[in-house]
Amino acid sequence: MGRYNYYKPLSLDDALALHDKIPGALFIAGGTDVMVKIVNGDIEPSALISLRSIPELSGIKENGSTRIGSMTTISELIEHPKLHKRYPVLIEAARRHSGPQIRNVATIGGNLCNCSPCADTATPLLVLDAKVRLRSIEGSREIPIEEFFKGPGETCLSSSEILTDILLDPPQREARAVFMKKGRVHMDLATASVAVLLEMEKNTCRRARLAAGSVAPVPLRLSQVEELLEGNIISSELLDRAREISSETVSPITDIRATEEYRRRIVGIYVRRGIERLLKK
Ligand SMILES: Cc1cc2nc3c(=O)[nH]c(=O)nc-3n(C[C@H](O)[C@H](O)[C@H](O)COP(=O)(O)OP(=O)(O)OC[C@H]3O[C@@H](n4cnc5c(N)ncnc54)[C@H](O)[C@@H]3O)c2cc1C
Repeated sequence: MGRYNYYKPLSLDDALALHDKIPGALFIAGGTDVMVKIVNGDIEPSALISLRSIPELSGIKENGSTRIGSMTTISELIEHPKLHKRYPVLIEAARRHSGPQIRNVATIGGNLCNCSPCADTATPLLVLDAKVRLRSIEGSREIPIEEFFKGPGETCLSSSEILTDILLDPPQREARAVFMKKGRVHMDLATASVAVLLEMEKNTCRRARLAAGSVAPVPLRLSQVEELLEGNIISSELLDRAREISSETVSPITDIRATEEYRRRIVGIYVRRGIERLLKK
């Protein structure tokens, strides 16, 4: 591994100005993805710009809606006194992210910006209809998280933009949600993962949000399953169809973790199981 100039700016403006001045510099948050890629020789940035000492990127604020600073670590999410009540599905996913040592440094922003299809915080944020706020020298913009992911390792961030915040609407009282992850062993990256959110009115599904991880080039909303469920009574036949559609509409690959066929099967099973679990809550 080579030697790198390492900068630790104290404000967002300084970080953006530095990045503008140093071609090929890379932002680094917890470094749990960046350092692995550097050590493996996958990337060779000209310098590293740490986001750790920038106060604007830290903290969780609640004011009806919720704003999570991108430098919030996965452990901070789990330990926050209110988040587990407001957005239990996000905390369930955070608890399944890696192990304690990694969670203490890995950030939610890094998890999203790394844009791996298996990012554990992506699917809960998709079903919660989260937005992300991005900042560059030109100004800031907000986009739905669904538009953030473009391809494996590719987001809609330009290289000179920083993800500053994750924004969540106040939780709907009727909404219930669940996260499920299949790994080969405990603390493994997901072979497949699914998040399901339902709003029910008696037996009828008023709103459905489903998302799947590790089964397509990006974390994915399962829109066809959402359409199938919304406005309908959830019968056993509908559950079978939801399972089939989920398996059919994803586009997984075979790799060292699992085969394409296995991933399709798991996602279908988890969709069905997730809905059933929520109906029992
Ligand atoms: C042993 C191990 C186990 C792991 N297990 C899991 C797991 O179970 N689930 C899982 O989802 N992941 C897992 N990971 C992957 C990794 O820990 C996560 O993706 C983590 O959340 C990344 O956060 P970070 O702060 O370390 O990001 P970094 O490595 O610092 O950055 C990742 C990428 O995002 C960019 N970036 C970071 N923050 C910003 C920002 N605010 N604005 C713009 N760009 C930014 C960086 O330039 C870089 O390209 C694991 C990694 C290791 C090493």
